[in-house]
Amino acid sequence: MSIQVLSDQLASQIAAGEVVERPGSVVKELVENSIDAGATAIQIEVRAGGRQLIQVADDGAGIPAEELELAFVRHATSKLATVDDLNAIGTLGFRGEALAAISAVSQVTVVSRQRDMATGKRLVLKAGEVVGSATAGAPAGTVIAIENLFYNVPARLKFLKTDTTEKRLIDEFVTRYALAYPHIRFRLTHDNRVTFQTTGSGNVQDVLLAIYGPDVARQLLAVGNPAAAGERSIRVSGFAAEPSVNRANRNHINLFVNGRWIRDHRLSYAVTQAYHTLLPGGRYPLALIFIDLPRDEVDVNVHPTKVEVRFRDEGALFAAVQRAVRETLVEATPVRDMGAWATADDLAGWGGARGAFERREQPEATQTTADLRWPTLAASPGNSPVPESGANGGEEAQLPVMRVVGQIGAAYVIAEGPEGMYLIDQHAAHERVLYEQFMAARERQEVASQGLVSGAAVYLSPSQATMLEANQEVLERLGFRVEPFGPNGFIIRAVPAIVARSDPAQALLAALTDLESEKSPLAEEVEAILVRRVCKTAAIKAGQTLSRPEMEALILQLEACDNPHTCPHGRPTMIHLSAATLARQFGRT
Ligand code: ADP
Ligand code: MG
Repeated sequence: MSIQVLSDQLASQIAAGEVVERPGSVVKELVENSIDAGATAIQIEVRAGGRQLIQVADDGAGIPAEELELAFVRHATSKLATVDDLNAIGTLGFRGEALAAISAVSQVTVVSRQRDMATGKRLVLKAGEVVGSATAGAPAGTVIAIENLFYNVPARLKFLKTDTTEKRLIDEFVTRYALAYPHIRFRLTHDNRVTFQTTGSGNVQDVLLAIYGPDVARQLLAVGNPAAAGERSIRVSGFAAEPSVNRANRNHINLFVNGRWIRDHRLSYAVTQAYHTLLPGGRYPLALIFIDLPRDEVDVNVHPTKVEVRFRDEGALFAAVQRAVRETLVEATPVRDMGAWATADDLAGWGGARGAFERREQPEATQTTADLRWPTLAASPGNSPVPESGANGGEEAQLPVMRVVGQIGAAYVIAEGPEGMYLIDQHAAHERVLYEQFMAARERQEVASQGLVSGAAVYLSPSQATMLEANQEVLERLGFRVEPFGPNGFIIRAVPAIVARSDPAQALLAALTDLESEKSPLAEEVEAILVRRVCKTAAIKAGQTLSRPEMEALILQLEACDNPHTCPHGRPTMIHLSAATLARQFGRT
């Protein structure tokens, strides 16, 4: 079909609106055009977060020389001819708006050649006006370069976020398309560095590996039942992560309908629902769900950006998604309720205490940072501030104000104080203690870093790698030292001393994930976010049995805190039942 201007009637059916919001949306539109053109390889080159340059090169069908100018006219498309076509859209584009919209706010150079043509054509546009046009030799396909985006719309420029944020949004779009089109070879370059590429093998698992790295990829469960696929008009497939891989927001639930990435709160909720009771409160799964259904069951012409769609039978779709994911999870993991006791990262609940000292008693190099660490008896009883009450029958002068009664659920310490009874969350309390100690050390510029003898390899997603680069300085101030090692591979050379006993890769990943889930943290917030995460990683977990001296040391240190009542994330560290409350509860008053 050749490019033609849509009829007024059809044009008015297509809701008007903004197509190009930011660099990410330009990348999205250009990549969609390449996919629609049947490309098998798509190369995306970005400079300065897309402000300077966005170039997309493909080996697709190419644009006929005589139609190249027309492609930049509003409502000019080769993908739609009649009103009926709107009911069954089989391409990603169809509104004929993108190239017109993009060229109006930038400088465009496009070179395109159809495969069976000897030569191609080059066109240069500035603010939508053609300023140059010539016959050009070129490989088959299309290369389109967008320079100085929004140079003529200063208001828009002002609304752009930092380069890091814009890069991340671009990464997100590219990785989504790579997932939906595993048979296409994608390569993304930021400022001359390849940050993401896929093989085009056709295997989604290869793409997952490139995006999430081996650790997460290993924990993704295949969703859907291919055997039954043919019979159903709704087909649900994809991957859902094991509950242990979870995130702080819904952004990691990716939904695709007939090859198009979409945003749909109800369907995201269907996925979250499937994890019901498997995830702690406030945590969300990581999942990619591909939904295939007859074209006329979905209306994609809802919004200019085409990421919102309407379904004819939303209820059936919700049920199908929820059921498919739930079946996968139930099959793969013996359903274990998180129950009321365990919180966030803590898997062992009441009665589930696991070898508490397994990790902590591993022999290891002497540390120079005793003041930052949980003073265990195991490490160095000599300089620990722990009163050795157990050994000497508990007659020390230096007893805490609160008296430890015991531990319950391997998660809470019960203590008695002058004001009644205290139930202390050991993890939250230790987080608070470490946080204040860390901040004090930070103030004195004495944050200790622990070198790793052999370094630890970690594999980051493109957006995590961007995060890492953007925040290298802060990370180093806190004790992380990381070196690049191949595309998106990194070697961790040092970690903050307080997490020396944790898995270094996990500690770094957790920190970057926290940064990722923050929309665009202010520079001052970044450090605080990282410090909170480091302390959370280092803190004792629920599920660890504590000895009496350890509990006493914890309470002693908590008492020394400026803000002992909440953890750095704002959750309470303790519940207090006053003597009066107890008396009232027992009907003594
Ligand atoms: P739409 O994709 O909605 O049709 P666009 O403005 O994005 O509108 O593109 C206009 C037309 O230009 C498309 O219909 C297509 O014919 C042509 N086109 C754009 N990009 C490419 C490409 N990379 N390869 C081949 N043709 C393209
Ligand atoms: Mg398009």
